[in-house]
Amino acid sequence: MSDTEAARCSAYWELQFTGDRRRARVPEGREKALDLRPQSVMAAAECRLLSGPEASAVLEAADTLLFDCDGVIWRGEAAIPGAAQLINRLQERGKRVLYMTNNSTKTRAMYTDKLRGLGFRAETQDVFATAFCSALYLQQKPAQRGKVYVLGAEAVSEELRSLGIACIGPGPDPLCGAMGDWAALPRDSDVGAVLVAFDPHFSYMKLVRAAAYLRDPGCRFLATNTDTRLPLEAGAAIPGTGCLVRAVEAAAQRTATVIGKPSAFMFRCAAERFGLDPARTIMVGDRLDTDILLGTNCGLRTILTLTGVSTLQEAESHRDSGEADRRRLVPDYYVHSVADLLPALD
Ligand SMILES: [Mg+2]
Repeated sequence: MSDTEAARCSAYWELQFTGDRRRARVPEGREKALDLRPQSVMAAAECRLLSGPEASAVLEAADTLLFDCDGVIWRGEAAIPGAAQLINRLQERGKRVLYMTNNSTKTRAMYTDKLRGLGFRAETQDVFATAFCSALYLQQKPAQRGKVYVLGAEAVSEELRSLGIACIGPGPDPLCGAMGDWAALPRDSDVGAVLVAFDPHFSYMKLVRAAAYLRDPGCRFLATNTDTRLPLEAGAAIPGTGCLVRAVEAAAQRTATVIGKPSAFMFRCAAERFGLDPARTIMVGDRLDTDILLGTNCGLRTILTLTGVSTLQEAESHRDSGEADRRRLVPDYYVHSVADLLPALD
């Protein structure tokens, strides 16, 4: 993609992200692309079962499909049956498939290995995970000066360092000293940002340190994502990153800038890299408040799959609520599993 095309694409989706996609403005020369969108896309999302000829038409009209991972193409360490065949078939049909996950515990390279191990075709550039996207944000908006204090896994610091951003923090930080000493814990004077991610070593000491850095109003405050539950296999779940973010926000009396879904920045990372047209992009996810809301925020067509967190009843309840904010959580379509879309590609 040329610089001019990239700038045009960036301007395009910036305009698209004006809230309600039905009121989205379109720059000159792009109206024709929008005119091609079926009327159903322009109307309010209805959460209809996607099957038969309509499924073929919806997939045919898309250039790119963004897939969330947990609960969509895999659960834990096991692929959703038929998901790899679907994605490989989509790619054979010339569709671009990108993977977009809020999970910050792995680098892009680790996700690529996992995808390939489960039978998916994937290149590292196809993966947009919050550890990497946080590093991109810190590199671009504007370039981070000084170190980043990371509450997160080693994968986060690895992605930061890969873009030349220094960081400290991952690993255990047990209680030390007496309570009277904690307000004066030694601080690294070079820290200019705090990034909260999924941190299995989260501790009171880390909370104290993060709050101390954030007392400086010039210290940036980011969070990879705000999912409060991290689903595991067989319906189990553990507290997610959002719980840690809320603790740090409460301690610092500040609000974090969120990188992951439903923030439009996550889509922007992919849109700028590949020149995506929102009108010809589908978001496939299992969560209404992250995946589907991202799609609504960015003017994408959305498909909810029922193999993960959110239920059809929740989606229908939002649809029938009559409340504008809840309607933004309603997908255009749902499927019981992404594998149900396979016949649409025959
Ligand atoms: Mg998910």
